[in-house]
Amino acid sequence: MNAFALVFLAAVAAATLLKLWLGARHLAHVSAHRAAVPAEFTGQITLDAHQRAAEYTCVKTRLGLISLVLEVALLLILTLGGGLQWLANAAGAWLPAGLPSGLGLLVLVGLLMTLVELPLSLYSTFRVEARFGFNKMTPALFWKDFVKGLLLAAALGLPLAAVVLWLMEKAGELWWFYAWLVWMAFNILLLAIYPTWIAPLFNKFTPMDNAALKERIEQLLARCGFKVKGLVVMDGSLRSSHGNAYFTGFGKSKRIVFFDTLLERLSPPEVEAVLAHELGHFKLRHVVKRIVWTFAASFFFLWLLGFLMQQPWFYQGLGVTTPSPAMALILFFLAVPYFTFLLQPLTAMYSRKHEFEADQYAAQNADAKDLISALVKLYKDNASTLTPDPLHSMFYDSHPPALTRIGRLQAQTT
Ligand SMILES: [Zn+2]
Repeated sequence: MNAFALVFLAAVAAATLLKLWLGARHLAHVSAHRAAVPAEFTGQITLDAHQRAAEYTCVKTRLGLISLVLEVALLLILTLGGGLQWLANAAGAWLPAGLPSGLGLLVLVGLLMTLVELPLSLYSTFRVEARFGFNKMTPALFWKDFVKGLLLAAALGLPLAAVVLWLMEKAGELWWFYAWLVWMAFNILLLAIYPTWIAPLFNKFTPMDNAALKERIEQLLARCGFKVKGLVVMDGSLRSSHGNAYFTGFGKSKRIVFFDTLLERLSPPEVEAVLAHELGHFKLRHVVKRIVWTFAASFFFLWLLGFLMQQPWFYQGLGVTTPSPAMALILFFLAVPYFTFLLQPLTAMYSRKHEFEADQYAAQNADAKDLISALVKLYKDNASTLTPDPLHSMFYDSHPPALTRIGRLQAQTT
């Protein structure tokens, strides 16, 4: 075991203990506040709904902790336990050296991780989500989605992986820079084909037919100086009763997609307020900023991978004796998240800042009161806890906690 192995083990232990501690705090905090609805929400959320949210949060948090333990066990078996080396030997014995055995190794590791996650995903869908009345998926649909997902991952992922592996082998010192260009092009292509090619594989999209709501939304869009190509409704109720709305597409071909579940539960003014919030994300350039950040981060991480793949200690420290580009990629993606976990509060904070800004935009262009009542309905219907542990929330929550968020909106009502 070299020094890097010890650094790696220390990072894995630190991140894992921190996650377990945050999870335990969250469970304790939610349970401690189970007995009473926070004063700010009395009259809007019943004690029953509050306790159902507490229960749902605790069940999901516990499931998350179990999945964490499994993930760490698999990581250690694959790296220091020699699992990856064994898989690489197997791929090498069946396939010609170079690109074919490299791709073979990536496929083996990808399939292994999918299989390990499968029982948890089945449990989460058919036990947890079903118990709280959220799951609308049949086993047949689950397996159809699973197979489609695998085929899609192969159709998109294999060509990308082949190009990157080829660059790693043949493009010299600056391969990581070319790989970064390929990665950006790939992501932009995904954004472009998602609405027309990928999303329709899983859901049906129909033009919005509620004339009154449509007119309301068109007025909001005109007020905000926003052009879209269409308002469409997605059959989200096919899988789950959780509701949502999102934007998709580029420039003038932008579309707004509403889950049917959202339209069923919110009144037209509430839908308008939620949409105004989403428009805020666009108008305030949050989407573009996020893409720029992601590309900047991937530039750094690809450079780092370019450096690490040339260091023998990187492979040895992670239990591998035959270095290869495919192995470097896998080790990197397995190990890096444990080193970057401490940065998570920063990215979560950045995201929460954007949520506040989008709320403010919504308050200016629609009615803050409607956004508040929409949020309360969504918290209730999605059984989101109103009382998360503050530290857990600081690490994980992309959206501000209910109390802070609604408090700020109330300050903006006139
Ligand atoms: Zn938002």
